[in-house]
Amino acid sequence: MAVITRLGAIVLISMILLLLSPSSVISPGGLPPLPEPVIPVDGTYRKAEDVYRALDKLYEAYETITPLESGLSQVKRLPIPAFRIGNGPCALLIVGGIHGDEWPVIGTVLYVAEQYARGMISGAAYETGATPPAPGAAAGNTADTPGALARDASLSRDIATVLQGRSVVVVPMLNPDGLGTSRYNGRGVDLNRNFDAGWAKAIGKKGNAPESEAESKFLADLTRRVKPDVVMAFHCFLDCVFWTYDQEGECLKRDEEVARSVIEAYGDLLHGGLQASSPTESAHGGYKDWFIKEFRRPGFTIETPGRDRFGSLENMVKSDFWPRFQEASVRAGLNAVRTFLGYAQGEGQ
Ligand SMILES: [Zn+2]
Repeated sequence: MAVITRLGAIVLISMILLLLSPSSVISPGGLPPLPEPVIPVDGTYRKAEDVYRALDKLYEAYETITPLESGLSQVKRLPIPAFRIGNGPCALLIVGGIHGDEWPVIGTVLYVAEQYARGMISGAAYETGATPPAPGAAAGNTADTPGALARDASLSRDIATVLQGRSVVVVPMLNPDGLGTSRYNGRGVDLNRNFDAGWAKAIGKKGNAPESEAESKFLADLTRRVKPDVVMAFHCFLDCVFWTYDQEGECLKRDEEVARSVIEAYGDLLHGGLQASSPTESAHGGYKDWFIKEFRRPGFTIETPGRDRFGSLENMVKSDFWPRFQEASVRAGLNAVRTFLGYAQGEGQ
């Protein structure tokens, strides 16, 4: 009797959850409709709680997004969230907030992630010939409003085609202890000098050893586990895309082609364009350097402009530049994966 009652309770709770879940409603085309966008194109996240709140909304809105086990920051022991969009092998890993004072790129990573989640859903509808959902129509969105990008049918198709059977892994905020206040982590280490890539030669606050910090160890462990085809790390100030770290031969040729497809997405938005090498010796020990060295696959550091062009990061996020940069970042990740996979299949030879 007790068993039946418990079973009854479970069935009842499941039914209630099913009714409450927005994506459980099936559209006439047989696919879940797109939820309202939850990540605005100009969203700012300057405290860890802001990121946690945004993630609660993302996880609730998209059942194609799966939270992964969080890390814990070195000093304050704050969760370092990570999640996966879609299923299958990891085509792309995107990370933001490695440096705590570069808060705008947390918004970039979250925006790109939601657009991929939306593109996978609406693009799949085009692919199957089902009636595509009308995303955001109820909110009266126009082509200019945030989230408009994934309503571009061709981009949705691209996202669905390129990422079909694959997944994207996202770490929006690697450094919650430093967020909004400092470049460094809670004990003053520059996390992007704490990876095992020329670490001995790195100068600056690089830590006691490669991966000595909980944050860099978490990102390296996650990367070793999901083995992405491509990584993109978002940073601020240098206004360019870094793409090299000692690649040679065929690997160099391939990565240059992938790099060109990345910068093509940004057009004239990043004045520094592609940068073949890091500007100073101190740039050893970076995440993308470590990824290239360890996996022999393409890794990129995408640098927004900053004070030089906009006076402040606040001004940059409020400018016309920002939505264009955000949307270009969606294309950049997609271009990188498509070019890499094409090359891997021999099309780029
Ligand atoms: Zn940085």
